[in-house]
Amino acid sequence: MRRCLIIIIFMLSIILSSGIVIAWTSYTHEWICNKAGLSELDCKSADYNNIKSQHPDLRSVNHHCTSDFDNCNARVYARKYLDINTEESKGFAAHLFADSVVPAHWYSLDYDSCHKVFEDKVEERLKQAENVKYSILGSTFDFSSWNVTMQCDDKKNNTIHLSADNQYMNQVAKYVAEEMHSNYIEQNVEEYDFSSVVIIVLVLLTLVLILFLYTGFKNRK
Ligand SMILES: [Zn+2]
Repeated sequence: MRRCLIIIIFMLSIILSSGIVIAWTSYTHEWICNKAGLSELDCKSADYNNIKSQHPDLRSVNHHCTSDFDNCNARVYARKYLDINTEESKGFAAHLFADSVVPAHWYSLDYDSCHKVFEDKVEERLKQAENVKYSILGSTFDFSSWNVTMQCDDKKNNTIHLSADNQYMNQVAKYVAEEMHSNYIEQNVEEYDFSSVVIIVLVLLTLVLILFLYTGFKNRK
């Protein structure tokens, strides 16, 4: 009986874990919607299996956007859900608009070795990025800037270059806001210039050193 239960739990966890994460990860979808001024919507649910089984139009193939065409599945179904205009359907629409601009969704790529790896890396960078930039004596340390690049072979053996960076992700959120008629939230990178602090510290240290040498010299005399 116990063994049977363990097997069932094991099978369930495999079924649930496969297929939940398709396209941008849940974290990234939430990030996009927050920036697109759509934080009140559930922008992740379109990837959940129970939701997909209730709404057949949300099947995986409709999250893809072959060749980034304007009339690709993701965009066609996003517009359809936007027209339905309920809170739930608007969440689906925002999700699908966001999926239509995942570079990995324009091609036919292996999910585990390429597609998922790319999307996970984007999530990781979004989490690590900070909205600050420091400058010290002409050098800049920008913690808001990042990029992910990858190369994979598609199912026809063509080499595909995938890339995304902080600016691209802001464009993604802008695009979703435009399509959803919401207000994109502009967030400027905070800049701190530490040059004057460094100069003051250097001047003070020099003064201390001079004083030290001077008193030493005087004492010797
Ligand atoms: Zn999706």
